[in-house]
Amino acid sequence: MLELQRDGLTGNLDSIYKVVCGPDNGWLGGTGDCWERGPYWIDGLVPLAYILNDQKLKAKVQKWMDWSFENQRPDGYFGPYPNKDDTPKIKGTQQTKSEDWWPKMVMLKAIQQYYSATGDERAIKLLTSYFKYQLKTLPQYPLNNWTWWGQQRGGDNLQIVLWLYTVTGDKFLLELGELIHKQTFDWTTVFTNNSLRKANPYADLHCVNVAQGLKAPVMYYQLNGGVKYKNAVREGLDALRDVHGFVNGMYGGDEAMHGNDPTQGSEFCSAVEMMYSFESMLPVTGDLYYADYLEKLAYNVLPTQADDKFLRKQYYQQVNQVLVTNEHRHFDCDYISSTVFGTTTGYPCCLTNMHQGWPKFVQNLWYATSDSGLAALVYGPSVVKAKVAGGVEVEFVEKTEYPFSDRIEFTCKIKKPAKFPLHLRIPSWCAEARISNKTGIIQKGKGGEVAIIDREWKDGDVIVLELPMEIKLSRWFENSLGIERGPLVYALKIEEDWKERKTPEHEDPFWEVFPTSPWNYGIPARTIDSMDFRVNAGSKIDPMPWNLKNAPIQISTKGKRIPYWGLYENSAGKIPNSPYPRRDLGTPTDDIILIPYGCTTMRIAEFPVVDLP
Ligand SMILES: [Zn+2]
Repeated sequence: MLELQRDGLTGNLDSIYKVVCGPDNGWLGGTGDCWERGPYWIDGLVPLAYILNDQKLKAKVQKWMDWSFENQRPDGYFGPYPNKDDTPKIKGTQQTKSEDWWPKMVMLKAIQQYYSATGDERAIKLLTSYFKYQLKTLPQYPLNNWTWWGQQRGGDNLQIVLWLYTVTGDKFLLELGELIHKQTFDWTTVFTNNSLRKANPYADLHCVNVAQGLKAPVMYYQLNGGVKYKNAVREGLDALRDVHGFVNGMYGGDEAMHGNDPTQGSEFCSAVEMMYSFESMLPVTGDLYYADYLEKLAYNVLPTQADDKFLRKQYYQQVNQVLVTNEHRHFDCDYISSTVFGTTTGYPCCLTNMHQGWPKFVQNLWYATSDSGLAALVYGPSVVKAKVAGGVEVEFVEKTEYPFSDRIEFTCKIKKPAKFPLHLRIPSWCAEARISNKTGIIQKGKGGEVAIIDREWKDGDVIVLELPMEIKLSRWFENSLGIERGPLVYALKIEEDWKERKTPEHEDPFWEVFPTSPWNYGIPARTIDSMDFRVNAGSKIDPMPWNLKNAPIQISTKGKRIPYWGLYENSAGKIPNSPYPRRDLGTPTDDIILIPYGCTTMRIAEFPVVDLP
């Protein structure tokens, strides 16, 4: 996925979206866009460049970093200079005052990652000086002075302030942290006072702000220590799931919060920002819930919102998505092109913000532990080099076809034997995990806990973690059925036809997608009663598994078409309540195939249940 990003939009946005991410960007001293879009791109390009160790991409990153370092004002202000002509020059952009605190919050995250990769001390100098500027200036020009976004997303600002404190120990950062918290939108109250549970109207919240705001209470918890901040997020996530939640882990938010009808949209920015919130909270709390949830988004939502070459993306995706066309849908913010696969289609924020998804996910596979060991808290094929046991260098090679396989193999490479603990997360969906070496099973682990293998490690030691996956059923909007197995959500396999189109509104062509096989299937109640779901896993997994053709796992089951269930405003119409009333539908019971949600473009993933007479 990282290499696809390198060859696709992430590695080439400065030419593909030159008008914004090219040399005229305000963050490079140009007269172009000086708001969030350049920093968004860099926030994903930095980890991509350094994880792949790609010289070409590093050179691109360097220009943006150097400009910020070399053009910081003596008073600490950094970024595009104020008092420039701030009127929008680029069609479709929302240029705001250069002083806006918000886009700087994005660049802070990019600079923090750049420092982690390079140790370039100019980063620490810039951050320290800028945070002194914030401490001095915020009382007069608070976070919401220029735009609303700064106040809503202040948790991202606080996160980097507190990270810098762990590096420098500068006490003024704690004072600044309190000030930023006071000026930030009160997410702790919103997550705990039932406002997310309100309907008619829904909570007046912006979908991406919610995804980012999730981390805010836990960031402040680091400073304050009050458990109410830590607990607020889990409470908020429960409310989000109950009222707006989908089986894929996302929530209805097509600009404003929009309930849990599986044809409401979820924005690409919401997915990557929610992932980043989990990545931010997991190391602070050690709460494995965030690791499970992170994998759910990465292995279901993320792969399907961009095309196979990472060259085009959807602004909104739908859980029940049976038509992707340049037409209106019942979204709160109904850009006509919001579901097609394009570049600037929908609204172009996601075109620049989507890049952080996979690279930051990879950054968060492994953690150091407080007992001088190493923790694999999120799973994916990887190699980690780390220092354990007070400074001993160790390397672990994680070989796996997870999430398509339940087997993960860890090989230890170490110069001389050393004793240290290896922590392995057992996902909550797994009843009992097995950990074995060449002598057989050495340990078992319970779902939702961390298994700790504390022993002397020698070069070449191999540990195999097995996480048996079972079919799990869940209920959603109108009592519809969700089908999951391990970290993957399953959806109806629908044949699809991709057609390229071009309209005068968009410079680049885009894809529309049409179903060429029926989608209006319900699952018979008796199929559920007998758990008639047969899993067929292919033996070979393609390097690009996330499409219809290469779907590595199929689940065979039964379905019955519901003739009354058709299109409504270019989406799947109102989903029949489950169980669908006893009546003769006049349709036969068919064999149907489910495949991983991430492999689908046309799909039903929340099914009506048909109660057969
Ligand atoms: Zn977006």
